[in-house]
Amino acid sequence: MNMETRHWNDDDLLDRVYGLDPAPGLCLAHLDACPDCSARWQALELRRSAVTASQPLTPAAEQRLRNQRVAVFNRVERPRLAWIWRAVPAGAAAFLFFIGIALHRPAPQPPATQVASVTLTDEQLFAEIASVVNQDAPRAADPIRGLFAENSSKEAQ
Ligand SMILES: [Zn+2]
Repeated sequence: MNMETRHWNDDDLLDRVYGLDPAPGLCLAHLDACPDCSARWQALELRRSAVTASQPLTPAAEQRLRNQRVAVFNRVERPRLAWIWRAVPAGAAAFLFFIGIALHRPAPQPPATQVASVTLTDEQLFAEIASVVNQDAPRAADPIRGLFAENSSKEAQ
């Protein structure tokens, strides 16, 4: 038994679990011959096999995985929309934009108002104001008053 090589530490054992080459100075024969290193290696191997052993699936989990797989395949196999159908929204927006430009008319300009030049002398202005002030009813009542005057003249006939 070759006990002259050093013992394997945890890092060395993990390197062996992952399939890495042993560090320099380590010997595989020591792993088999040394009871301490051999026991630790066996425990690690047992733990690894327990972790990596496949667990049987419950029917619910199996059904869930099956549904997931079916959904993935349906999504992958679904035919993609043709490029023409993907361009429809952009085409509709462009169409409406050009229709808007074609139908656009500038707002009509308001007709130029002609302001009559009224020139009143001060005397005419004061006479106008005096006539308004001396009226007993406002001028706005004149059309209504005219209606009553017409009706009363018709009734008199
Ligand atoms: Zn050892």
